[in-house]
Amino acid sequence: MKKPITLAVLGDPIAHSKSPSIHQAFANQWGQAVDYQAIHCPPDALPATLDRLYEHGFQGANLTVPLKEQALTLCDQLTPAAQMAQATNTLIRTPTGWLGTNTDGQGLVNDLNDRHVVLKNKRVLLLGAGGAAAGVCGPILDAGVASLTILNRTEARAQALCDRLNDPRISVRSFEDEPKPSDPPAFDLIIQATSAGHAGEIMTPPGTWMDEHTVAYDLNYGPAHAIFSKWAKAQGLMVFDGLGMLVWQAALSFEHWTGFRPDVGPVLAALRENDL
Ligand code: NDP
Repeated sequence: MKKPITLAVLGDPIAHSKSPSIHQAFANQWGQAVDYQAIHCPPDALPATLDRLYEHGFQGANLTVPLKEQALTLCDQLTPAAQMAQATNTLIRTPTGWLGTNTDGQGLVNDLNDRHVVLKNKRVLLLGAGGAAAGVCGPILDAGVASLTILNRTEARAQALCDRLNDPRISVRSFEDEPKPSDPPAFDLIIQATSAGHAGEIMTPPGTWMDEHTVAYDLNYGPAHAIFSKWAKAQGLMVFDGLGMLVWQAALSFEHWTGFRPDVGPVLAALRENDL
């Protein structure tokens, strides 16, 4: 029998991670053996853990909170996606070390595409300016949006992200900003990329920034999505959670490691039915 490909997800905490079940489902589709391990890894253990995985022949690894930024410094090479995000969620073995890339943003764009949410020429409002927000900006801009406006609790962090990405379509807005006469009345899409929902909190834009055509997408899923979902529905917005993005980012990682593009639909359906 062929030796299984060995992969891992590293994070702190890690016990809650759905990644092992998702990747096992992908392996079943692929029809080849995959050994995907969840490894608890506090930040100070990351350098030694990555060295150990490399020595033991692991083909790749996923990184989750709080390791995505730190891992950049431990990669031999970075893809433009990882450089733009300044974070890596996927490590790929190369003959000389780890290649770091980032599939989070493309995962979001692919999920929006599956839900028939068009990005081209649209006005997008991004709530949050942390690691996940930084990761989605590049693929959203590449999808041809007309504008990308960032609103963050700490405005300086949004401004730093805007300055780093240096694209004329990006701007920062604050809660106090009055709409300019030239501003169209509403955003087409609101992407919720804060972690506030994990604490049962929420940061919402003023009601004048949206209308009945505005669609909302929350990167959070499960209990962390509840508060934003409730708010968005009360505004009359169509709202999606981030479970599809989670499965898509995993599928893109799996494809990097194996060359096989999994079918996301059945895996997402199984997750929603708590079958995974
Ligand atoms: P970070 O810790 O890097 O950033 C947190 C962001 O949330 C910052 O913008 C922060 O604002 C903001 N924030 C936190 N608490 C509050 C609050 N009470 N009110 C307003 N703003 C708040 O986290 P990440 O960017 O890595 O993750 C963000 C979310 O996205 C998480 O919930 C995570 O689970 C989810 N995620 C989902 C993925 C998926 O596949 N669906 C993939 C990756 C992430 P400030 O700068 O002011 O501190």
